[in-house]
Amino acid sequence: MPGETLGLVGESGSGKTITCLSLLRLLPRGARIVGGKVLFNGQNTLDLSEKEMERLRGIRMGMILQNSMAALDPVFSIGTQIAEPLVVHSGLNWRAAIERSIDLLRMVKITAPHLRVRNYPHEMSGGMRQRASSAASIGPHPDLLIADEPTTALDVTTQRQYLELLKELQQETGMALIFITHDLAPVEHMSHVIGVMYLGKLVELGDAELTCSEPQHPYTASLVAAATPPGTTPAWPIPIVGEVPSALETPSGCSFHPRCAYAMPICSQEVPSLAPTEDGRMVSCHLYPDEIKKIDKRAPIQV
Ligand code: SF4
Repeated sequence: MPGETLGLVGESGSGKTITCLSLLRLLPRGARIVGGKVLFNGQNTLDLSEKEMERLRGIRMGMILQNSMAALDPVFSIGTQIAEPLVVHSGLNWRAAIERSIDLLRMVKITAPHLRVRNYPHEMSGGMRQRASSAASIGPHPDLLIADEPTTALDVTTQRQYLELLKELQQETGMALIFITHDLAPVEHMSHVIGVMYLGKLVELGDAELTCSEPQHPYTASLVAAATPPGTTPAWPIPIVGEVPSALETPSGCSFHPRCAYAMPICSQEVPSLAPTEDGRMVSCHLYPDEIKKIDKRAPIQV
């Protein structure tokens, strides 16, 4: 929804980035969408031609990549790179687009923007580059901005400032935000709704605060427990064991079953569907609705 943030979390390899690249139809060579719908303001974008999709991507959907050095072209100035989408998609002439680039650099809190606009990416710090690449993404006023692990390459203090900036930009523009991360701490702070992904599927979806304080899926509980500060006991302390298996060898049934402390015989046989629970959240787990009532979440568990 406009002004809202969906936080998409999961370990590396859970399919967060590929899901968002699918929304933008920017999948890498060899990958293709074989089914389903991508509904954007009620329209299935999979029905659009490549030309129509290009316009949508340039104006109404934007994306911030995790590595700003890779996202920005080293041979063009920052100003040119922010101005280009405005010239191509918003119909501004270059002079007006460069003026707007200066405003956008100011908006992302880059000091002396009229000078910085002439800088090349290598002349800026990592934090500054990430803010400049955000300026390029929000320039055409997108309805939806996808930020893919935007703080990965930043140090801790810069990360916090950058996230605050992203929130401010969202409040100013009213855009919807999809915030992808493997780290639960910022996602709770940033998001209204959290979606937890495991091996390419959503396993839990619901209110951000509630999901972090009372996780429903055993995998979410493990992520919350792993992110809980030392000295604090999480609501459902399940240690995370093993690694995400290869997407080419997805386990049968619930793909989390080889790592799940609560796995039952049905778990390796049937894929659980993503279904609503009593409080209106969604979870994909055979423990619901009945088995979960028998579980004492405080009891020590064997993994
Ligand atoms: Fe664990 Fe079974 Fe639920 Fe999967 S469906 S998370 S294996 S209890």
